[in-house]
Amino acid sequence: MIEKVDNMTNFKSNCHTHTVYCDGKNTAREMIDCAVKKGFSAIGFSGHAPMNFSNTWAMTQENLDKYFFEINSLKKEYADKIDVFCGIELDADYEINKEYSFDYILSSVHQIHGKKRIYSIDYTAEELTECVNAEYDGDWYKMAEEYFKNLAAFVVDNKTDVVGHFDLITKFNRSGCLFDENNPEYQKSALRWVDYIIDNKPYIIFEVNTGAMFRCGNETPYPASFILKRICERGARVTVTSDAHCTEALDYMFDEAKLYCKNCGFKSIWHLTKSGFIEEKI
Ligand SMILES: [Zn+2]
Ligand SMILES: [Zn+2]
Repeated sequence: MIEKVDNMTNFKSNCHTHTVYCDGKNTAREMIDCAVKKGFSAIGFSGHAPMNFSNTWAMTQENLDKYFFEINSLKKEYADKIDVFCGIELDADYEINKEYSFDYILSSVHQIHGKKRIYSIDYTAEELTECVNAEYDGDWYKMAEEYFKNLAAFVVDNKTDVVGHFDLITKFNRSGCLFDENNPEYQKSALRWVDYIIDNKPYIIFEVNTGAMFRCGNETPYPASFILKRICERGARVTVTSDAHCTEALDYMFDEAKLYCKNCGFKSIWHLTKSGFIEEKI
């Protein structure tokens, strides 16, 4: 459980937000208006990039065009109120047919490729369980090793500014109902691939993402504290995000997430600005 705090925010931003162009519920304008009302200094959009297989949640190539155009025009329209950024959430299975100059790239993995089909990691607990049973003989730790390895390879081999929800496979694992996150094999896998990322990209930013706290009632953000502590010890950086798919989630549990970072050893968190990511002491 993370601690509750009244108000320790003096700087607000969120670089992980979605809109109706992918699986979000609000328009970009609605998200920006809400961010202005909440006193944000910056909001970054990270629509799900089009994918190389049919799905219902990522942008189509056509929507990506509209997204890029609209966010960039809103950036100008709102320039005196808030800094707006046009980023993208790239998945290892992305497919983009045109060149775009995104302000930043958030890299994530949401699928596992099985022998006969592709499984979603974060759609339902049943689908992930089916994947583990069919592809890994019911061994959750083998699945975890492959997931972390795929994410780390994607982050290292591609341009990445922010690592998305590092332990997304824990989304449905409230109270360890699917597997034991204290299992040494599991923790070894997670830390091995955190180390691999930081060995190759020492100052990379990992997000501390409250999305599953808002959507599923999870008690802590991604990633788990043992992972966050390693990220801190290795000198990499963090930014707090909510993976917002609606206005209500925009700054959900941000103060608590900051305190969570502090308790894991961080002295600062990082915010997206026009001069790149800048540091806020916490
Ligand atoms: Zn994601
Ligand atoms: Zn997202």
